[in-house]
Amino acid sequence: MPLIRLKDITKTYSTGKISFQALRGVSLDIEQGEFVAIVGPSGSGKSTLLHLLSFLDVADGGQYLLMEKDISRLPDNDLAVLRNRLAGFVFQQFHLLSRLTAVENVELPLLYGGKKHLRAEARTRLGDVGLAARERNRPNELSGGEQQRVAIARALVNDPHIIFADEPTGNLDSKSEEEILRILEQLNAQGKTVVVVTHEPEVAARAGRVITMRDGRILSDEKRVRPCDASKKENLPPLKEILSDGGALVNRADLMDHAFQALKTMTVHKVRSFLSVLGILIGVGAVITMIGLGEGAKASMADRLSSLGSNLLTVSSGSHHVGGVTLEAGATTRFTIKDAEKISELPHVKAASSLVRGRVQLVANGKNWNSQAYGVGADYALLHALMPAFGALFSDESVKSRERVAVIGPTVAKELFGDKDPVGSVMKVNRVGFSVIGVLPARGMAGPQDQDDLILVPVTSAMYRLFGKDYVDAIEVQVDDEKEIFAVQEDLGVLIRRLQHLKEDDVSSFQIRDMSEIRKTLENMTKTMSTLLGFIAMISLLVGGIGIMNIMLVSVAERTREVGLRKALGAKTNDILWQFLIESVVLTLVGGCCGILLGGCVSWVLAVASGWAVKVSIVSMLAAFSVSFFIGIVFGVWPAKQAAQLDPITALRHE
Ligand code: ADP
Repeated sequence: MPLIRLKDITKTYSTGKISFQALRGVSLDIEQGEFVAIVGPSGSGKSTLLHLLSFLDVADGGQYLLMEKDISRLPDNDLAVLRNRLAGFVFQQFHLLSRLTAVENVELPLLYGGKKHLRAEARTRLGDVGLAARERNRPNELSGGEQQRVAIARALVNDPHIIFADEPTGNLDSKSEEEILRILEQLNAQGKTVVVVTHEPEVAARAGRVITMRDGRILSDEKRVRPCDASKKENLPPLKEILSDGGALVNRADLMDHAFQALKTMTVHKVRSFLSVLGILIGVGAVITMIGLGEGAKASMADRLSSLGSNLLTVSSGSHHVGGVTLEAGATTRFTIKDAEKISELPHVKAASSLVRGRVQLVANGKNWNSQAYGVGADYALLHALMPAFGALFSDESVKSRERVAVIGPTVAKELFGDKDPVGSVMKVNRVGFSVIGVLPARGMAGPQDQDDLILVPVTSAMYRLFGKDYVDAIEVQVDDEKEIFAVQEDLGVLIRRLQHLKEDDVSSFQIRDMSEIRKTLENMTKTMSTLLGFIAMISLLVGGIGIMNIMLVSVAERTREVGLRKALGAKTNDILWQFLIESVVLTLVGGCCGILLGGCVSWVLAVASGWAVKVSIVSMLAAFSVSFFIGIVFGVWPAKQAAQLDPITALRHE
């Protein structure tokens, strides 16, 4: 039984409306160990026949029996395995990848064969063809003859059983031609089957059998010598074994190797790679900066909110307008410390603290300063999460006995005491001597208002010693549970109406303001801002992704021949898919990492230069990293699929 048997093979090419029958019923047996030359005029179908024989293409009609098994309808991936395991190719144009060194070119079939120790094996093969010293050279640094020898080393590296050569000496001088022919003869003598397409008589003269083609048919078949003797025949594993061996779904080519090749491609096209990742770089940079700004704003907002107090209701006298008519002064509601005590007895009220406000003139150390004084209860610090940074706040006792003690804001401390520690000093407040017992922590500006320019004194001292009034301006009520705020508001209304003898429908004599409303509004604002920023960032990433896709498509189109060659060497659809996918992911990841750096730098500059609160977190960096990864996948899949679906022969012929 022959190694290969073709039965009535036909092949028709159609380009648009015109179709051309390149093979018109070819039947042929090739024994193991034969050296066959296929000759004939140009266009007679020699190459077409070779491509069919070498599993690179499939026939339209007829049967292909390989080791007695019909492989005419084998799926693409199985054909790839046969190309990788059984066949070695030598092309007229060498088809070496110009980016890779000689030894890296030779490694390719091993890579797709899932072999290990690629480098050592590839070196040995290069040594076999006398090019050990040139392994680090790229194809353009080698002569034509040397390039073809590299191609032969590549064809032999997987120890194939059949060597297919398409005009292997067509582009070579006579010396190189002689070398190549000698190598082919040696291989044949070792028991390998050799099939060569040639139009050169001297090449055909070296073959043991010459098949002449004309117009897609075999014109003559001349067997000059018998194929090598049976003792030299190689033992071929059964076809089933070969196919099952390579049939694994997981791509055998090492992922790391793909990543390495991708980096190599990137470094070859530096400017293009840079431009293509620019979109992602700017996008990720923008995302990092925006998230940083958003988080920073949120953090400073949270700070401010906590000083507003949580679950806080403020009760104050109403606006004195009813239906556009200003009421007399006596008609306004006035609250007293007693009211605060009554309010604090309501259910769900944690604390009720009286508040008095007014401008005061401060004198200390011979310096003058005008500031805002707040007369507050001892629990003010608790309500507003505002513990003095130095010293302490006054106690309930101090409030009861109208003590002349004050806690001052950092601005006041600076203006009156400079760098000196103010705690323990005496200061005049509206000509009344108060001793400073603490300094509040710095809170910075809230818009135009300096939050640090204030003093806190016991509410009673403020009422009777500073402002000379027996009522308070407001009562701050802290509710123990956010859910109860509404109920407490209702209860407060009822209680105040009763205490102040107001009518049921009187809604203007007093006000209850809900601080949690303000909090919610502010929180909603931050949320809206974050959403908006996120949306803009998404758009920039989308644009970046489209840029990547564009470049990948160009790259696939440009490297069509490379894809064809890789497939000819045994790369399966998945191998090519992975290769391009990894390339796009490597591109976007590099872009993403640079973007993270850029975003970090911009945030830092913003924070330092403008004093904005910026918070770049590890989480946002990780998020940016994974988003770049997904962009690489999402926008790389389509180009990679385009590449993976290329037909090897069409791709190899691509100009
Ligand atoms: P040879 O190798 O003997 O010169 P080929 O086998 O390459 O001839 O081609 C045989 C014929 O098939 C030629 O006339 C060629 O124009 C045609 N042919 C080959 N490949 C294609 C193709 N992909 N599309 C259309 N026609 C093709």
